[in-house]
Amino acid sequence: MNIIILGPQGSGKGTQAKMLKEKFDLEYFEMGKILRDVAKEDSPLGKLIHETINIKGVLVDNDTFREVFFKKLGEISKEKGILFEGVPRNEYQLGFFKGESIEMDRKIDAVIVINLPEEDSIERLSKRWVCKENEHVLIMGKDIRKESEKCPICGSEIFQRVDDTPKRIKTRLGIYNKDTKPVIDYFRQKGILVEIDGRPSIGEVRQSILNKLKKLYE
Ligand SMILES: [Zn+2]
Repeated sequence: MNIIILGPQGSGKGTQAKMLKEKFDLEYFEMGKILRDVAKEDSPLGKLIHETINIKGVLVDNDTFREVFFKKLGEISKEKGILFEGVPRNEYQLGFFKGESIEMDRKIDAVIVINLPEEDSIERLSKRWVCKENEHVLIMGKDIRKESEKCPICGSEIFQRVDDTPKRIKTRLGIYNKDTKPVIDYFRQKGILVEIDGRPSIGEVRQSILNKLKKLYE
């Protein structure tokens, strides 16, 4: 089984993705994390991505994205199901998944979209911190109380991603809304779109995803 999970920043798609990965024993394919990992590599590609995402704070160009995507995909056995998080998020990336793409060669069974109003996204993200070692997501005011604290899960230092400041969040949400719409429309036409309201609690969202997936395959 191959699943795609999409949603604006702060929709909780990462949390839900990890749950689905465990439940269905899928390979977790999160482009943000994959790119951040490549950015740490001491190679021309790694340096280019580091400059783009960590220094300039912008998205990588299409060619670079494509290179990293297919390199990573090629490392995963064809027998293993994949959970794609945050990809495809625009029409260009949708091309990787469309029709009978030979390069893709994997059938997508469901596309989950977690919807969340913009004000909720901003509210949630401005409170989001992560730890340096394991990228544990920590909510200010809930998991942690102040910036100087260490990660309560692994004890490493915490920081707020450059991407999670209000100005950047607004920009990213604007890009998401504009670019992801054709992707969502495409999968809706294919009859495999599962739309979820991201406002309820993590547990409730999880349950509605599982219910809707079940319905899709009954
Ligand atoms: Zn941690």
